[in-house]
Amino acid sequence: MTVSQPTISKAPITLDILVVGAGLGGMTASIGLALAGHNVTVLESAHQLGEVGAGIQIPPPSVKILETIGALDEVLEKSTLPHEFQIHSWKDGKVISKQNLVPFTMDNYHSHYLHIHRADYHHALVDRAQEVGVKIVLNARVNHIDFESATVTTLNGEVFSGDVVVGYDGIKSRLRTFILGYEDLPYDTGDLAYRAILDASEMKHYPELASLCKNPNIHFWWGPDCHVVLYMLQGGNTCNVVILTPDTLPKDVTVQEGSVEELLELFKDWDPILSSVFKLIHSTSKWRLQNSQELKTWTHEKGNVIILGDAAHATLPYLASGASQALEDAAVLSGLFSRIESKDQIHDLLELTESLRKWRSTQVVLGSTQCRKIYHMHDGPEQELRDKILAESPPKKGCPNRWADPVFQKFLWGYEAFHEAERGWEEYKKGKMAEYTFDNLYDDAKL
Ligand SMILES: Cc1cc2nc3c(=O)[nH]c(=O)nc-3n(C[C@H](O)[C@H](O)[C@H](O)COP(=O)(O)OP(=O)(O)OC[C@H]3O[C@@H](n4cnc5c(N)ncnc54)[C@H](O)[C@@H]3O)c2cc1C
Repeated sequence: MTVSQPTISKAPITLDILVVGAGLGGMTASIGLALAGHNVTVLESAHQLGEVGAGIQIPPPSVKILETIGALDEVLEKSTLPHEFQIHSWKDGKVISKQNLVPFTMDNYHSHYLHIHRADYHHALVDRAQEVGVKIVLNARVNHIDFESATVTTLNGEVFSGDVVVGYDGIKSRLRTFILGYEDLPYDTGDLAYRAILDASEMKHYPELASLCKNPNIHFWWGPDCHVVLYMLQGGNTCNVVILTPDTLPKDVTVQEGSVEELLELFKDWDPILSSVFKLIHSTSKWRLQNSQELKTWTHEKGNVIILGDAAHATLPYLASGASQALEDAAVLSGLFSRIESKDQIHDLLELTESLRKWRSTQVVLGSTQCRKIYHMHDGPEQELRDKILAESPPKKGCPNRWADPVFQKFLWGYEAFHEAERGWEEYKKGKMAEYTFDNLYDDAKL
């Protein structure tokens, strides 16, 4: 359990809020806004709710948010607590860097670091949303928005109006195009991710893999142009494997089935334990990885509309922090809208949400992009220097293991989203809209 977290109080007025997209970000925002006393409708394009079959890491700031919105108990029931990060040499598997998590994150950040299957995570959020009265409309692909009336129209012609529209419609966001007035698509990074879930009971037959199952750690192998991430899920019964490699997908394809044979070929010179892992994969898909540039704006001058989550700041998964940024956006938005006193304040509070959140999510996007270079180095002087710094104890500012860099770690894990909302609100009430930037808040953690 985390140290006692702030609660969301009911706002003095009630708004009708439309949330577009029922992903992890949209569901968290819908719960927070409903707890703040608003009427929330989520519009989701899919015919049924769900998430891709893969694992996800939940860092301390998100765990705190889950506690505040009342979803933590169900998430904890389905989660695994990894003991430490272990970074292995790509050739022989030797551990080149570690970062403790248990008891470290509780001692230093008053919270857990969790691993969970995405479907279990999403399910916990949907359960909680239904409990707090959020209405979810499926098969509702938003295709058009009228800013002045905060009205959206779906592809099948249904019309929904509210006081506010919150766009959590993901990496291919339709609302982003409307807000900017042009298409600002995330760009291809040149990498793709294979994702697979292994049955741990099959791993236990192999002595070299049994030890991976025994202690739930997060294992990374960093090497030339690729890296591999492996961690246990679902009470140790399954194992999540993500394999990042150069993008070889055809131009217009974003997801495609992958094969064990191609993985064995790609990693034939790597730590042999990886081939043992790959041989237990029954099916895998490969996903093109995309990234974003900082957008000009997340809001629109003529309307009460904002985009958040991947719609506003898609990121490489190399810091495992994309969804956590979406949750932090949700918490700040809910924290501000739990204090709203009149409809005249809606637009200011959307701009304040952007101002409180944009500098941080931008830094996480940049930090994740920087990790690509750190993880994928070819052997040579730069890699030798990297590994020499990794071996330093205790790790110092600038450590290539970003989770072990004491300054960057504090930036990433020490964030308190609901406190940020409170601070922003207090400054707003004093009449000065906060101008937050990375420089004036976390100068020490500059990359
Ligand atoms: C390989 C990989 C590993 C990752 N690992 C981690 C990790 O360990 N930790 C972490 O924090 N993050 C991780 N991420 C990032 C994380 O998955 C995303 O940042 C997060 O899921 C984004 O959530 P979201 O709610 O903003 O968007 P999404 O989850 O994309 O949800 C968008 C929703 O909107 C719906 N939608 C889209 N268009 C419309 C429309 N026009 N109308 C209505 N509905 C619409 C979609 O159907 C979808 O349900 C990883 C990403 C990848 C690719």
